[in-house]
Amino acid sequence: ACRQQLTGPIETTNCDYETLEDVNEQLYTHLHDLVTTPFFRYFRVDLYRECPYWQENGLCMNRECGVTSADESDIPEKWRAASLSKVQLPHASLSLPGCYYRDSDFCFLDDQTEGEYVDLVQNPERFTGYAGVSAGRVWSSIYNENCFGQSELSLLKAPSPAEVSLPEPSTSVFVEGSDSDGGQCLEKRVYYRIISGLHASISTHICWENMKDQTQGEWGPDLSCFVSRVATHPERLQNIYFNTVLMLRALSRIGPYLAKYDLCSGDHDTDASIEEFTKRELGSVVDLAQTVGKFDESVLFRGENALVLKEEFKQHFRNVSRIMDCVGCDKCRLWGKVQVTGVATALKILFELDEKALDPIANPNLLQRSELVAFINTLHRFSESLHAANYFRKDWAAMDAKQ
Ligand code: FAD
Repeated sequence: ACRQQLTGPIETTNCDYETLEDVNEQLYTHLHDLVTTPFFRYFRVDLYRECPYWQENGLCMNRECGVTSADESDIPEKWRAASLSKVQLPHASLSLPGCYYRDSDFCFLDDQTEGEYVDLVQNPERFTGYAGVSAGRVWSSIYNENCFGQSELSLLKAPSPAEVSLPEPSTSVFVEGSDSDGGQCLEKRVYYRIISGLHASISTHICWENMKDQTQGEWGPDLSCFVSRVATHPERLQNIYFNTVLMLRALSRIGPYLAKYDLCSGDHDTDASIEEFTKRELGSVVDLAQTVGKFDESVLFRGENALVLKEEFKQHFRNVSRIMDCVGCDKCRLWGKVQVTGVATALKILFELDEKALDPIANPNLLQRSELVAFINTLHRFSESLHAANYFRKDWAAMDAKQ
């Protein structure tokens, strides 16, 4: 997987590897610009909610685990908590201290009046050193949410501490490879591919921005890290491509909605030029999404038990979003929350919102700013992983040529 370009159809999509490869560099460049704009760089997040599933001391002693929060006065007033608290949350279905979801959501959202602002550009996702039992337990709990057909559909059914299996990282409960099991229903395979693709993408970033030299504080790509974590398991890399297509399909669906979305910060001195730039970059990304976002969401959740299965899928994904409060490293928890919210937003767009709902005039508050920030940043993360995979392929070829 590291040496060769992937070819042929990306499983369960109508897109092939070559087509996505052809546009990814362009996509990455536009997304890279987009995530630096004021609208997309500030994310409000509550990093200090208790882990609801087990006792997690939440202490990562590594300096790289830290997150620097932004000064609230740097955030345009329109997006600040004080203004947001005046906005009635649309159809909030259930609220727990500090978080809530609406019926259509695939994740718990942090209450936007709690937590703090983080400038995502200033806190990049990269190697932090977070590992061991804590990280292994989070990943295994996330993969355990792949058990469909076993849980009754009670609201907020979180596994009790006794139910969460706590494997040693070596005794794997992971179901890797099961996506090729033809006996599984499509929805379960898709669920697994999403999680595995997200995991592989996070692993790729860890290898892409790895600590080369601790004393010098030097960062850079680490080929052997990528080979061992991702490339020796081709299906992991394939799942990143899958996630990218899924996100692009969601983006192409909300293109017209986004074109009318209010991206202004309310600062009259700078708004016109920044808004124009943001809209232009967003428009370019949407155009690319329309050519490669070929995922047919209508083949999922059909048949007799469609609604039950969809509710179950949603509930599992919501549990994953709560598991993020158990990640014992602030930086990893931040990016875990961003990316789970980003994927959950894509799932909501694909499986919950019809064309009528996506009318920006009739439904201007359908997607909150935090959901869009998470969505675009997550797409940027996936696109960067594909960019990094290409770099690693070239690096490997250059090494081969030398030998
Ligand atoms: P892990 O990545 O912990 O994987 C555990 C097991 O899962 C593997 O042994 C394998 O059996 C299986 N597995 C691995 N990849 C896949 C896949 N793609 N599909 C299916 N199965 C797979 N660390 C950082 O340095 N920076 C971060 O920003 C960061 N963010 C994180 C965010 C979250 C939400 C979590 C849970 C962890 C994060 N970590 C981060 C930690 C990191 O993901 C690893 O857990 C850690 O580096 C230890 O890696 P590992 O080699 O033990 O395997």
